[in-house]
Amino acid sequence: MKPSGLILVSPVGDIADDISGAVADKVAEVFKTEVRITPLLPDIAFAYDADRNQYWSTRVLEELEKNAPEHCLKVVAITKKDLFIPILTHVYGEAQLGGKTAVVSTCRLNTGLDTIDMADFMDRIAKEAIHELGHAFDLRHCEDPLCIMHYCRTMADVDRKLNQFCRYCGILLSDSIKALEK
Ligand SMILES: [Zn+2]
Ligand SMILES: [Zn+2]
Repeated sequence: MKPSGLILVSPVGDIADDISGAVADKVAEVFKTEVRITPLLPDIAFAYDADRNQYWSTRVLEELEKNAPEHCLKVVAITKKDLFIPILTHVYGEAQLGGKTAVVSTCRLNTGLDTIDMADFMDRIAKEAIHELGHAFDLRHCEDPLCIMHYCRTMADVDRKLNQFCRYCGILLSDSIKALEK
């Protein structure tokens, strides 16, 4: 079956509508595709690790894949919970490389600020969602610190990069989309 080009933005739990909306708008703009907001997981309690008091993002991706409708091309979930993978203290998000699913956490994107600037906060979430979707479209990390596919260790890194693919990653992305349309 030919993929429809539909990308789902999937809030988990009590993610504010304006956050899901801002992410969906930005994803539609960057990937030039139809985007819908569809909750798929009521919570991610199944991914909880009591020793770390965090949630294992890889488990979230597996569960998301089971629940993702067949007709959609990619799904990106948004959670407030703090995510990790075993080799790292935390992650902003994770995706199945060249797969269907991605997840981002808002947890670490608003720390260190006295008052949360909503516009900045939403910008960061959108950037990380697009970064993880980039991985789902088979893109690897990019050395260009301004490229959306740059690997960010800190929030300052996230703020520095632009919400767009560099020329090189843009070409890889359109190749990956073309390959899906065949
Ligand atoms: Zn990455
Ligand atoms: Zn790049």
